[in-house]
Formats: sequence, structure tokens, C-alpha cells
Amino acid sequence: MTDNQVVVVPEDLCQELVSRTDAFAAVEQVFAAMGRGDARNFPVVREAIGHAEALFGFKSGFDKAGMALGLKAGGFWPGNADRGLTNHQSTVFLFDPDTGRLKALVAGNYLTAVRTAAASSVSIRHLARDDAKVLGMVGAGHQAQFQLRAAVEQRSFEKVVAWNPHPDMLPKLEAVATELGLPFEAVSQQELGAQADVIITITSAFEPLLMLDWIKPGTHIACMGTDTKGKQEVDPELVAGARVFTDEVAQSVQLGETQHAVAQGLLDEGAISPIGKVINGDHPGRQGDDEITLFDGTGVGLQDLAVAATAAALAAKQGRAQTVSL
Ligand code: NAD
Repeated sequence: MTDNQVVVVPEDLCQELVSRTDAFAAVEQVFAAMGRGDARNFPVVREAIGHAEALFGFKSGFDKAGMALGLKAGGFWPGNADRGLTNHQSTVFLFDPDTGRLKALVAGNYLTAVRTAAASSVSIRHLARDDAKVLGMVGAGHQAQFQLRAAVEQRSFEKVVAWNPHPDMLPKLEAVATELGLPFEAVSQQELGAQADVIITITSAFEPLLMLDWIKPGTHIACMGTDTKGKQEVDPELVAGARVFTDEVAQSVQLGETQHAVAQGLLDEGAISPIGKVINGDHPGRQGDDEITLFDGTGVGLQDLAVAATAAALAAKQGRAQTVSL
């Protein structure tokens, strides 16, 4: 039996290797593969483990086009902050699709943030109006900073307006906007809706934070925080009033932002389109300047595999891969 060389890519190396541009390309490609039916996510496992109030689970899948097979294992440990650790912890395992042998172990914390930001960024590129000028941020936690950096690369934004349920968290987001050379204004939710051309929601909310009446015609909204049953960031009437896109329809109606509108009979599952079809040119996307478009970014395992495969490939190419025999 031949030795199996497994590539190991730690957190700090992932941060050095995988740029926002790399993550964008990886996520856009895998959404396109999903849209063609060339890549499939497997059912998500997510369980309370009954210890440390932790949630643990797996997101897995196979991208036949990119030949990425594997899973992300990890979850949420609320007590980690007190230990100086990130609450969300994850690791990606990549396997050889031809033999099933483990190929790579890739740290997943930075990659989760950068792939989630890439997803909303892909939605902005394909769905927002070209003349979008004001970016609205709802949320100011760990992910929000990544979201902001990725979003501003898609349109010529001139200003950032933001609202967060915990206003004391906004200065950190303001610092990022300032670094990016953009004026920043903390506003009410209604004012955010009145000003923003593109809105990103990235909170842990369980109730609507934005109502349909507050949103301007032509706005693009990327709902990124709702990734679990029961979570919610926007009014179901707003979801129903928009042209809706998602990463994966089955996951969107089950645990994404559309779960509430669909459960209330306001939105038909058939009216939700995979963003991959827009990327592939099989769906026109936005169909008018006054349309509200909404992207429900639920976060799929294939995104994780795509960026982890990029990290492993770059590590190998640059001769920076650590390997272990297994
Ligand atoms: P964080 O803990 O750093 O920040 C949480 C954010 O939510 C803050 O803005 C906070 O003010 C707000 N918040 C906290 N409790 C709230 C409540 N009860 N009601 C309304 N807002 C509340 O978390 P993060 O790492 O920035 O993640 C934000 C959200 O994004 C989480 O829900 C997380 O599960 C989700 N997420 C989604 C994906 C995806 O692919 N879609 C990926 C990673 C994280």
C-alpha cells in the first residue's frame, strides 16, 4: 500500500493564501456548477451536543466539475469568547473523489468568513443595479467586516449606512469603512432602507429587522445571517415582494431566510431561483430597475470545499504545504 500524503493548511496560511478575489472566483464557479447540476450538497447535520451549549455538525457535498469531495465539520461554542477563541470553529476535510482517500485538512474559520462574504458579493455582481451608490449594513459582528470589504469591490459605492441591534459594535465596522475610504453613517432601520441601494443583513436575529415598506424600489438585499431554522432577518412580506435568489433552494426553504415566507404561504418554492442559473446565463436575474432583488445566502458545504480546495492547491503550488503521511 502506498503512503497517503495529506496536505495540512493551518489558519494563518489560509489567510495568507486565499484572497477575496480567489474566494469570489471559487464561490462563483461552484454556484455555477450547482446551477448546471454538476455539484450537489448532501443533507446537513447539525446537533446540540449537550455539552458547553455547543452546536456541532457537518456540511458536505461533491463538485464533479471541480472534483472537490469532502465536508466541513464544526459549529458554534458560545463560551469560546471567554477563552479568547472564535465562537464558530470549523475544519474542512477534502477527499480524493477517485479513491476516497483523505487529501487535505484545511482550517475553516477564516475560510468560512471569506466564502460567506464572497457569496453576497457574487449576488451583488449579478443582481444589484449598476448605479448602486449606497451600501446598507445590518449587523456589525465578525462576519460584517468581511461582508463590507467584499461588497465594496462590486459597485462604485460612495457611502456606507449601518444599523445594528447592539450600537456599541458599530465603531469597528466604521473603522473598516474609513479604511476603505468610504463615509459611514449610523442610521435607524427606516433610514437605512430609505438610503441604501444594496443591503446586507448579517446578524443572529430571530425576528424581522427590515420591513417591506422601508425598502426603496430597485434595492438588492443579501440576507446572509439566517442559516438555521427559526432565525429571521427580514419581513416575510419583503421576501415575498422581491425577486428571490438563493444558493440552494432546498436549504433556503428549510433553514434560510425564505423559510418564513414559504411557511406562511406568501412565497412559492418554485419562485425561488438558484443564483447559479443567473451566473450561467440560464436566468435573466434582475428584470427591471424598480425590482427588489433578494439573495438568500444560506451557506452551503460546496462553498467551503471550493475555498478549501483553493487553499490546498495554492499551498502546494507555492511549496508551502505541510504534509503528513496517513
Ligand atoms: P457575531 O456574533 O460576531 O455577530 C452577531 C451579530 O448579530 C451582531 O451584529 C449582533 O449585534 C447581532 N445579534 C446578536 N444577537 C441578536 C439578536 N438576538 N437579534 C438581532 N441581532 C442580533 O456573529 P457573526 O459571526 O458575525 O455571524 C452573524 C450571523 O451570520 C450568524 O447568525 C451566523 O450564524 C451567520 N452566518 C451565516 C453564514 C452563511 O453562510 N450564511 C456563514 C457564517 C455565519
